[in-house]
Amino acid sequence: MPLMEAGFAASRLDAVLGWARKYSLFQYPFVTACCGMEYMSVAAAHYDMDRFGAGFPRFSPRQADLLMVVGTVSHKLAPVLRRIYEQMAAPKWVAAFGVCTCTGGFYDDYATVQGIDTIIPVDVYIPGCPPRPETVLHGLLLLQDKIQRQGRRGR
Ligand code: SF4
Repeated sequence: MPLMEAGFAASRLDAVLGWARKYSLFQYPFVTACCGMEYMSVAAAHYDMDRFGAGFPRFSPRQADLLMVVGTVSHKLAPVLRRIYEQMAAPKWVAAFGVCTCTGGFYDDYATVQGIDTIIPVDVYIPGCPPRPETVLHGLLLLQDKIQRQGRRGR
């Protein structure tokens, strides 16, 4: 008798872990500048990140698995960002929210980090100044696809 007819659901451990991880993201918002306004807009009821299982921010990096870097990062702040990333337990993922985090944006100067991927690994880049909420949600969906594909391997 096939497994399905006998009341069993067959799957691979990788697929189940990927599914569970992508829909239970606990984000740590590292908010430094004006993109924070748009972050709040996405997190609030109208756009409702909770629909995607990523609506519950944690304010300790030790309890988070998604680091949302939101806003301009200066060289003075860079060691703090690195330390927060290191405090997160694996598996963990990073979203660069806004063009300042992706490339430094229009702050092409000595004080600004020219892309946070020069400090920590980045899993998804969300462009825009600031990004539209729809762009943020699209970035989240791309990240979820990536997490699903990673399965138990993590990054
Ligand atoms: S990308 Fe634009 S809105 Fe976001 S922090 Fe930089 S300057 Fe501000």
